[in-house]
Amino acid sequence: MTIIEYKTPEELKLLTDKTRWETNVFLKKLKKKKPKNLDDIVHKMHNEAFAEFDCLDCANCCKTIGPRLIFKDIERLAKFLKIKPSEFIDQYIKVDEDNDYVFKDHPCPFLLPDNYCLVYEQRPKACREYPHTNRKRFYQILQLTHKNCETCPVVFNIIKDVKNIDF
Ligand code: SF4
Ligand code: SF4
Repeated sequence: MTIIEYKTPEELKLLTDKTRWETNVFLKKLKKKKPKNLDDIVHKMHNEAFAEFDCLDCANCCKTIGPRLIFKDIERLAKFLKIKPSEFIDQYIKVDEDNDYVFKDHPCPFLLPDNYCLVYEQRPKACREYPHTNRKRFYQILQLTHKNCETCPVVFNIIKDVKNIDF
C-alpha cells in the first residue's frame, strides 16, 4: 500500500475527476465479476491504511459531508447533551431532499478545532461506519466508494491500489 498523504476535498475531487472514466469502467467490471476475495483484499487495505493514517490529521468527512442520522442517534445525542430529542432536532437537524435527518450545517457542529469529535462515544452510526471500506459484500457499494474518493484520502488510495489488482 502506498503511503497515504492528507489531501483536501478540493484536491481529491480534482484527482478523482482525472481518472473518473477509467475508474468507472473498472468498477463496473468488478461489480459484474464479484470476485470472492474482494472483501478480504479491501478489508486488509482498510486495516493497514487506518493503522497508518490518523483521521485527526484529516476530518474531511466531518467538515464536508456529515452523517445521515437515525432517530436512535438523535435520542442518544440528546441524552448526552441533556436536552430533549425535539430540542436537539430544532437546534441541529434539518431534513434533506431524500427525507433524511442531517446536520443543518457543515462542518459538523460537534467537530472541535483540533479535529476531535465532542460526542465521539455517542457519535451517529453513520460516523462509526464511514468510509465503509470494511463493509461485507463490498461489491455492493462500489459507486458510493467512488464518490467517497472525493472526500476521503484513505478511500482514494484504496481504490487506486485495487485498480492495480488483476481480478
Ligand atoms: S474517514 Fe477518511 S475522510 Fe474521514 S477523517 Fe478519516 S481519512 Fe479523513
Ligand atoms: S458527530 Fe463527530 S464523527 Fe460525526 S461528523 Fe460530527 S464530528 Fe464527525
